[in-house]
Amino acid sequence: MEIAIISGKGGTGKSIISAAFATLIENVVLADCDVDAANLYLIFNPVHEEEKIYIGGHKAVIDYDKCSMCGLCISYCRFEAITTVNNKITISETSCDGCFLCTRICPENAINMIQNDKSRMFSGSFRNGKMVYGRLAPGEENSGKLVNMVREKAKQVAKENGIKMIILDGPPGIGCPVISTITGVDKVVIVTEPSVSGLHDMKRTVEIVKKFNLNPWIIINKFNLNNEMSRQIENWCKKHKISVAGYLPFTSQIVNAMVQQMSIIEYNKNSEISKTLGTIYNTIIHE
Ligand code: SF4
Ligand code: SF4
Repeated sequence: MEIAIISGKGGTGKSIISAAFATLIENVVLADCDVDAANLYLIFNPVHEEEKIYIGGHKAVIDYDKCSMCGLCISYCRFEAITTVNNKITISETSCDGCFLCTRICPENAINMIQNDKSRMFSGSFRNGKMVYGRLAPGEENSGKLVNMVREKAKQVAKENGIKMIILDGPPGIGCPVISTITGVDKVVIVTEPSVSGLHDMKRTVEIVKKFNLNPWIIINKFNLNNEMSRQIENWCKKHKISVAGYLPFTSQIVNAMVQQMSIIEYNKNSEISKTLGTIYNTIIHE
């Protein structure tokens, strides 16, 4: 079974919940699909067994022996990636979209495209099973392809090791990486928080998930920070027949667990929040 944990925006506690789920049962494949900001490896410190280069597009580089400083490329680049620095044509690695246009218009053939090869996919073992994650190099575009690579690898690892459960920690937002994360999964969990923007982002995320014919589960994290907004989220869910899987309180134990590089389950299995997470997990799995 594949469970994807996503959220309309970052900082809602998605990774904390993924980490908890991944330590509630023995032997899982944990896939960190938040390739822009992978962080679960920091908690679980996996042993790498495989590292693969991910080619995430191209970027333009100047051959200064050929460049005549005509400036044509500057005016054509619609990403404003090309400027003049100290009388030299300079291309910003992070702004270049890899569209190839400058290579075509340069009268001196002074621009070449080289592959972006700094992004990686890692696969290995951690204390509760197997772990796969991607790390996108700064400035490289997150088209969802690296997420696909992570998911394919997670499936392969699960099959090879006879592991039945794959937990996917998804990226925030509603773009291509999220779509790559939820395509074909069995269950989707949306983590939200009790705020006006939390409700707004959750609605948009529900809409996307519904397009995949999936009925998402909602977890309201830090519900006790704004009981009124938690009620509003609950009411909206009721009205739209979306199930709320549970409510997690704000607690400093979460921070303490992170500092100790543990999931909350590992940190204090008998705490209220751990028990609630156990109930939520069972509800999601069995219903
Ligand atoms: S178009 Fe080519 S020759 Fe002209 S400034 Fe750009 S790199 Fe140099
Ligand atoms: S490849 Fe496209 S985005 Fe990159 S510098 Fe050239 S024109 Fe600009």
